[in-house]
Amino acid sequence: MDANPRIQVHTGDITKLAVDAIVNAANSSLLGGGGVDGAIHRAAGRELEFECRMLNGCKVGEAKITKGYKLPARYIIHTVGPFWQGGGKGEAELLASCYRRSLELARAHDCLTMAFPAISTGIYRYPKHEAAEIAVGTVSHFLALHAMPETVIFCCFDQAMAELYQQAIAYILEG
Ligand code: ADP
Repeated sequence: MDANPRIQVHTGDITKLAVDAIVNAANSSLLGGGGVDGAIHRAAGRELEFECRMLNGCKVGEAKITKGYKLPARYIIHTVGPFWQGGGKGEAELLASCYRRSLELARAHDCLTMAFPAISTGIYRYPKHEAAEIAVGTVSHFLALHAMPETVIFCCFDQAMAELYQQAIAYILEG
């Protein structure tokens, strides 16, 4: 049985998910970049960049919301993860803040379903195992306090990352 049916792990491309909101691991300019950010901007179309330009960037650990444009998702929540600098620069708290702020925005916009990529684990080089534990711990804590969103999907780009999430779920939720 699932430890928490409101938390799911999916392997694949986040731009394909028909959920109320997907989260983008953006950079502080919000004007697009590589990795999942580039994939989301390509799939959503140029109108996304026009809306992002009006937002005046975003601080590390914060989040901002836009429409989803050509994506199947209704909204995109753009959050800026910390760049890994060895762990002594508040990276863990900033990463947890990305998850919390994104969840708060999703809740404020009545999102029932949302999907997160593994924020900071690509170009920003956050250690994957630690990042997965922060993601699962922060999301499960939020879901225990709030009925919305109902379901959170951790969308992993590859099977190895999905296994790290399954391990984090087993460790954190199943004891
Ligand atoms: P960051 O700069 O926050 O590290 P990246 O986009 O480089 O962001 O990577 C974050 C994670 O997103 C990585 O684990 C990467 O494998 C994953 N990723 C890249 N493209 C996609 C995609 N289309 N869908 C889901 N995850 C993706």
